[in-house]
Amino acid sequence: MIDFPTELVEALRAAKRVLFFTGAGVSAESGLPTFRDAQTGLWASYKPQDLATPEAFARDPETVWRWYQWRRRVHADVAPNPAHHAIAGFEARLPETVLVTQNVDRLHELAGSAAPIHLHGSVFRNKCAQCGTEMPEVPHDLETPPRCDTCGGLCRPDIVWFGEALPQEPWHAAMAAAQRAEIVFSIGTSATVHPAARIPLVARDAGALLVQINPEPTPFDKIALNLRGPAGVVLPELVEAVWPS
Ligand SMILES: [Zn+2]
Repeated sequence: MIDFPTELVEALRAAKRVLFFTGAGVSAESGLPTFRDAQTGLWASYKPQDLATPEAFARDPETVWRWYQWRRRVHADVAPNPAHHAIAGFEARLPETVLVTQNVDRLHELAGSAAPIHLHGSVFRNKCAQCGTEMPEVPHDLETPPRCDTCGGLCRPDIVWFGEALPQEPWHAAMAAAQRAEIVFSIGTSATVHPAARIPLVARDAGALLVQINPEPTPFDKIALNLRGPAGVVLPELVEAVWPS
């Protein structure tokens, strides 16, 4: 068992507003390949900017579409891990918990998290590339992007591509939660992707206790309470330490 600092256990028992901020490391523990790791076989010869930029989609929509359809099929084989379930467990005990994720999968939803804030969108959502209208999910073997009923534009995944700004609504929701949080967890993220990495810093500057769960060092090491190890091990033990069963 991990010996958690008393300060943290007591803070969690007293807390109402906890903010979770998760990154690729949490999905990787489920075996979900990262963007680059997914670039195998046919896809190995492409550069990321040929698959994940608005320019690439404008130039060659079918190739970009097929890449995301392939990634959707990869995602279908992956299940949430104990870290996702532990976060959903926090939400069940502390209803004002807010979950902000940089991940574009839906593993938090599958674990039971009600409404994760997706800062970078989700590969499972679609929108019109032209007018932005939300579009429905389609079978993951459809090889060409459907057309928008409203404007005839092409369907694209509703995720943030390289060179695109973060969508305003989730960003503002995440910032508001950061300003109110009593405790903020930064989990499985290198804390180097901006502006997303500002979320835990804003929470800390507003007075929250910053807790980091990561196997590797990050820029947050000097300012966080660090729990070294995989989130899928640390988080379930933390739940048990705070609320012994
Ligand atoms: Zn449209």
